[in-house]
Amino acid sequence: MDRPSFSDLKNAIRTIPDHPAPGILFRDITTLLGDARAFRRAVDELVQPFAGLKIAKIAGIEARGFILGGAVAHQLSAGFVPVRKKGKLPFQTVSMPYSLEYGSDEIEVHKDAVSPGERVLLVDDLVATGGTAEAAVKLLSSLGAEVVAACFIVDLPDLGGADKVRRLGVPVRTLVSFE
Ligand code: AMP
Repeated sequence: MDRPSFSDLKNAIRTIPDHPAPGILFRDITTLLGDARAFRRAVDELVQPFAGLKIAKIAGIEARGFILGGAVAHQLSAGFVPVRKKGKLPFQTVSMPYSLEYGSDEIEVHKDAVSPGERVLLVDDLVATGGTAEAAVKLLSSLGAEVVAACFIVDLPDLGGADKVRRLGVPVRTLVSFE
């Protein structure tokens, strides 16, 4: 059997209209995660440019970035760092606010999660406006980590998030786009 193609990966993602708010097309990757071959291919493709680049840690953004980031960390023999919503982590944290369409939110990591100079790869399921990923890059950088790249299964290019992250000097890898 052939390996799933990138269009197979795109077709494995379910779209839910008007979730969580009217007008939003929610790109639901749980259907891709539930498809063994698509999940494996997606993780293989996220990892592929970074093999041999001495990535010390994967930083996964809550919550779907945890699932992908854990698999990516295993493939790259890297550690895993959870980037969580405010108030969830048990030890001392550093935090970074970011803007949402309405209001703002904050993400946190443990203050000892990365060391100065450590090479970190950021992982999440999807980049939309890039606000979350931008905050994560700034947070990890504030602890002295070198964010080598950021990778996502899905890009929503009309919202410009991947370019926002690139403007921070962080290369971005995405596998499929929904215009
Ligand atoms: P942003 O900060 O705007 O790039 O939003 C990215 C975060 O919000 C990611 O953690 C995504 O899981 C989630 N997200 C934003 N928009 C969507 C969407 N249309 N479908 C699924 N998840 C989304």
